Amino acid sequence: MDHVSESMATEISELQRLGVVLAGRPPHEILARAVERFPLLAFATGFGVEGCALIDVIARHQLRIDLFTLDTGLLFPETLDLWRRLEERYGVTIRAVRSDRSVPDQAAKFGDRLWERAPDLCCSMRKVAPLKGALASFDAWVSAIRRDQTRERSSTSVVEWDEKFGLVKVSPLAHWSSADVWSHVRSNDVPFNPLHERGYPSIGCLPCTSPVFPGEDPRAGRWRGLERKECGIHSRSERSQLTSLRKERPSDVRVG
Ligand code: SF4
Repeated sequence: MDHVSESMATEISELQRLGVVLAGRPPHEILARAVERFPLLAFATGFGVEGCALIDVIARHQLRIDLFTLDTGLLFPETLDLWRRLEERYGVTIRAVRSDRSVPDQAAKFGDRLWERAPDLCCSMRKVAPLKGALASFDAWVSAIRRDQTRERSSTSVVEWDEKFGLVKVSPLAHWSSADVWSHVRSNDVPFNPLHERGYPSIGCLPCTSPVFPGEDPRAGRWRGLERKECGIHSRSERSQLTSLRKERPSDVRVG
């Protein structure tokens, strides 16, 4: 084992130990410990109800965590309004991280409505690559994912090495249920997206999100009709979204 891989192995085993120590602890304790251990810590929120709950926890406990969101240029008006309401309510700034390529620029290069023909490429340009750039200056990032949301997320640890982005990932809500999140939001009067009460349990970009019918999976409305239920940010699959971006040719990208 060379020096680099040895130090990486040591770091990963330290993260595993920290994950065990913090497993099941309240989110504010997990975040407070993460701030101590990883001073350059960022929270990337997509303004889902879990993200709103975490912003409440971060603000309530005055935790020094940078807040930002991936503004794809294709968000619902209700999401943009929620962004403003959260900033006002908690007196925080949630920075916008955007793709270098505007939506019109993307249409000019790849044709209109790329998300219908090559969502992998569209998500790569509008979400995954901007997130990678934004995380480059941090030690660790916070995610609001929960284990019971998707099969891909079921093995999420509270603290783990994020191979895709090359830094530590902290998921303080990994062990929470949807009911836990809503209980926190309701009891603390946390602002949330009104679309959740109109049949949208999971909300992403406007063109790729539809309401779900009773009995459907909560993420059934994301990329409806396609197998994909993740934008690539939390995916552990070998098929890297960043590889899609390098190709920059929608005809080469397998959809779904
Ligand atoms: Fe594009 Fe849809 Fe991904 Fe948004 S969710 S970046 S519109 S493919």
